[in-house]
Amino acid sequence: MATIRNIRVIQTAPAGANLTVVCVETDEPGLYGWGCATFTQRYLAVGAAIELHLKPLLLGRDAARIEDLWQLMMVNGYWRNGPVLNNAIAGIDIALWDIKARQANMPLYQLLGGKCREAAAVYRHADGHELREIEDSARQFMSQGVRHLRVQYGGYGGSRADQRHPDGAVPGNYYDPRAYTRSALKALGHIRSVLGDELEILHDVHERLSPARAVEFAKECEPLRLFFLEDPLAPEDLSWLENIRQVCSTPLAMGELFNHPREWLPVITRRHIDFMRMHVTQMGGLTPARKVAALGELHGVRTAWHGPGDVSPVGHALNVHLDVATPNFGIQEFSGFNDALKNVFPGCPEYRDGYLYPHDKPGLGIEVDETLAAKFPCNSKVIDWTQTRLPDGTLHRP
Ligand code: MG
Repeated sequence: MATIRNIRVIQTAPAGANLTVVCVETDEPGLYGWGCATFTQRYLAVGAAIELHLKPLLLGRDAARIEDLWQLMMVNGYWRNGPVLNNAIAGIDIALWDIKARQANMPLYQLLGGKCREAAAVYRHADGHELREIEDSARQFMSQGVRHLRVQYGGYGGSRADQRHPDGAVPGNYYDPRAYTRSALKALGHIRSVLGDELEILHDVHERLSPARAVEFAKECEPLRLFFLEDPLAPEDLSWLENIRQVCSTPLAMGELFNHPREWLPVITRRHIDFMRMHVTQMGGLTPARKVAALGELHGVRTAWHGPGDVSPVGHALNVHLDVATPNFGIQEFSGFNDALKNVFPGCPEYRDGYLYPHDKPGLGIEVDETLAAKFPCNSKVIDWTQTRLPDGTLHRP
């Protein structure tokens, strides 16, 4: 029996985003595992939750009992769930799975049932402030084999149209919902018309719209034949999904802000979404993610795990192991790895011609160069981009 001897938190920002990874060490010489616990915007709180609360709870326990330890970590504070705790749990949970697969001397996907496919098709982000810029970015990705592209005009919230603010309006990341939908439709229509029908196009509303306008926008997107429209509504407005379903066939993706695994029940069982945009660490790791993936399989809902730059390469590696072993896999978001990330995380999943490949080494197949990681310290400055405001100064979801 391998028992948990130590749990360590490593925080690093080789590509700018604050990443948190966890090393769980056992009393068996050389047996350890890595997990991702990245919650970029509150990384200090996640680190404290692991080091001050979960580590004392787990030291000396059997590393093989992953399911039991997950349940224990979730309820031990009595008040449960939430992004800080769930990410902390995920870091340990994923590391325990890495350990189990290393013990079995198998790549993790073998423990999940084996491959359904050799690699995961990915989508990349084609973004820009001018149509030409978006088109150039799209063509660049397509020349690298990418066949699925998320198209955004000026990032979330679209282009900055002329806005009149009241006197004394506080500083913020202002946006105008009407200007956003206008510019987004223009960009999506342009890309469809110049790049043709073979390209799969995606778009992320990022919950920027009021419910009625989200219904209208999803309907306006229908002729563009999107691969999916992401987060047309906020989790708070889920009951409006039915209204979108009634008026158009635009495929919907949701869920990166969900926390508890049971939040998926209504949207999956009522078939209100087509793709699950789960941020796997926000959910608590692989243990709950594979259950929700199976629930989706039984209801015809496919996976599209969240994979932006604020997922560590350890988290990306986990995503890819899950992708290749999940029958109802849909698509994998991928943000690319710069050289610093590849050096700090030897064994990043490999990208070739529109696909991400998992490694065949035992476990997740990824390591962390801690000496190098220390050369890219995290930044705890106050976050501006989430201080979103409507033209009259009202604070809005980012
Ligand atoms: Mg999103």
